Amino acid sequence: MGLAILGNMKFTVGWLYPDLMNIYGDRGNILTLLRRAEWHGFEASVVELGRGAATQMDEVDVFFFGGGQDREQALIYDDLRQFKQASLQQAVESGAQVLAVCGGYQLLGHYYQTADGERYDGIGLIDVRTEAGKKRFIGDVVVLSAIDGLTPSTLVGFENHSGRTFLGPNARPLGKVLKGHGNNGSDHQEGCVQGGVIGTYMHGSLLPKNPHLADHLIAGALRRRGGGALSHLDDSAELAAHGWVLQRAQRR
Ligand code: GLN
Repeated sequence: MGLAILGNMKFTVGWLYPDLMNIYGDRGNILTLLRRAEWHGFEASVVELGRGAATQMDEVDVFFFGGGQDREQALIYDDLRQFKQASLQQAVESGAQVLAVCGGYQLLGHYYQTADGERYDGIGLIDVRTEAGKKRFIGDVVVLSAIDGLTPSTLVGFENHSGRTFLGPNARPLGKVLKGHGNNGSDHQEGCVQGGVIGTYMHGSLLPKNPHLADHLIAGALRRRGGGALSHLDDSAELAAHGWVLQRAQRR
């Protein structure tokens, strides 16, 4: 599809709880999705979806749900179920994509239970459950992606979480942990993919150093509108950053 035709195609990012669920540089994911969509020839915009009733969720192509400490998760989980759950489920069923990182990832599952035993019910959009442990998992993460055709096949990021997430039968891992802890530090799995939803523990922020994953989300969202293959972009700078994290992780 030529850029001229794409010129009037809109691409909308829905940013869930930007004021509360946005730590360790997660905002960089929003900037990457917007810029890459523009470079691919779309008219990109962001809709901020804070607490309270949300009216524009059916316009969103890719939702982003960032990380947050236990305190922030407690502040938003009632709102998530009361004001966002139904529209988010409907949007995903109609082909919208979701990227959820850490605290956001946890709350899209069945529940997140803190190390003190406090349980925050999630919305069950993905078949995962999370219980926090005493020790925090902190450091570089390198993953061998399980998404077919992703090039390079690695994903790199940074994790900082106490939650241990375990996947149920309806979810599959985003990939295999090559470096770091991933979902729970025991089954060598990182993240989850279920339908159009990607959950991950990788902050960093994730997408600037993983442009191939950003384009996977953009292309996935636009498929429902007849969008074909995205134009090729020069990702040499982004992939140099990706390679640098790979090398740093291997030295540690
Ligand atoms: N509070 C959650 C945990 O500690 C999520 C943290 C985060 O979003 N980085 O596991």
